[in-house]
Amino acid sequence: ATFGTLSDRLSETFKNLRTKGKLSAADVDGTVREIRRALLDADVALDVVKSFTATVRERALSDEVNRALNPAQQVVQIVNEELVGILGGQQRRLQFAKNPPTVIMLAGLQGAGKTTLAGKLGKWLKKEGHTPLLVAADLQRPNAVNQLQVVGSQAGVDVFAPEPGNGVGDPVKVAKEALKHAERTQHDTVVIDTAGRLGVDAELMKQAANIRKATSPDEVLFVIDAMIGQDAVATAKAFQEGVDFTGVVLSKLDGDARGGAALSVASITGRPIIFASTGEGLDDFEPFHPDRMASRILDLGDILTLIEQAQQAFDEEEAAKVAEKIAKEQFTLEDFLAQMQQLKGAGSIKKMLGMLPGAGGLRQQLDGFDEREITRTEAIIQSMTPAERQNTKLLNGSRRLRIAKGSGMTVTDVNQLVQRFEQAAKMMKTVARGGTPQIPGMGPV
Ligand code: GDP
Repeated sequence: ATFGTLSDRLSETFKNLRTKGKLSAADVDGTVREIRRALLDADVALDVVKSFTATVRERALSDEVNRALNPAQQVVQIVNEELVGILGGQQRRLQFAKNPPTVIMLAGLQGAGKTTLAGKLGKWLKKEGHTPLLVAADLQRPNAVNQLQVVGSQAGVDVFAPEPGNGVGDPVKVAKEALKHAERTQHDTVVIDTAGRLGVDAELMKQAANIRKATSPDEVLFVIDAMIGQDAVATAKAFQEGVDFTGVVLSKLDGDARGGAALSVASITGRPIIFASTGEGLDDFEPFHPDRMASRILDLGDILTLIEQAQQAFDEEEAAKVAEKIAKEQFTLEDFLAQMQQLKGAGSIKKMLGMLPGAGGLRQQLDGFDEREITRTEAIIQSMTPAERQNTKLLNGSRRLRIAKGSGMTVTDVNQLVQRFEQAAKMMKTVARGGTPQIPGMGPV
């Protein structure tokens, strides 16, 4: 997955620090050098890498760290905070106009994922209680209008498109007509899909700038494919100069990209990342949270997203019950199993496991993960007595052996499951209480 290698390299770097009681200047320099190399190899822009490592070094050498009980963990914290910083700091929400319709224009290279994003945004806006209208102002790509109509109908939202066979068509005119149409038909948000080219060119920029001028959008979202690596910076700058934008959408974060685009674009352009796209499906899309992305990169486990997704998969009442159980330390293996079973249908189990703390080490296994894993987990939990499911402390050696035999698994399998569950429950509890989760394997602060 995106950031996989970066994540592994950073974890490795921090692991080497763990054995040190106190950090010398040489330790810090060595660590900073490794971080620098990991970031450069992940295609992060050189300027960003330079200022990032300089800040980390300065802070890591400061008294604050020297006096700390656990300097290694402090360094991880610093890197985490600085990562959140280059990803934009605070979450930036989509802004809506005081007087509807809110106009959202999409810009970016061809293939960046604009049309797909229009569908995702449409579906998301609708779920948030809005009445979106998608506008096909990409009249360059032969199939673009049709593609927008397809995603629009999948998302269950209206699409405004020029009549077919109407000559070449003028995207500025289409966009203007769409706004009038939206007002007439009471759509409160308008998402304008625009044409992209394979590379940055003047004609494309002019057209996008003209659409912008004609529609005065509340948001101009620059969509960038996370896979394009080092080209990300030049492309983002060209769009900033040519059209300018109010926010960034990272697409294809599900791919095997090295993630440099994601880590460079916000700090290079000074524009916030507002959404992340993580797949071809219309639901593979989420508001971007700099802090959560940073902890995912540092493999601190994206507990909040995990909890949110669990809540979406359950009905609300169920979710409230789970949250309460977690807070009260009453989250049991039975709940864990119920969660897994519910998620089986949702097909998102792999993604969820990827967000568990410490999952970086499991990444290879995760890549080979299939639904049989759930079946095995089910078998183990179902071989436990109800009392054991309620309280894993009961699980002594002979009980574990019995469970292993009963489920046709090994004792190691049983141990691993119990350990994973206990770690997850502990993490979830800390977060549910509003605390910062401990960094797995780094010991307490
Ligand atoms: P546009 O030219 O900017 O409108 O790009 P499209 O929306 O047509 O997307 C180009 C291709 O990328 C299509 O095949 C999409 O299915 C795919 N795509 C879009 N977003 C994502 C994403 O987040 N992840 C993945 N894996 N594919 C995506």
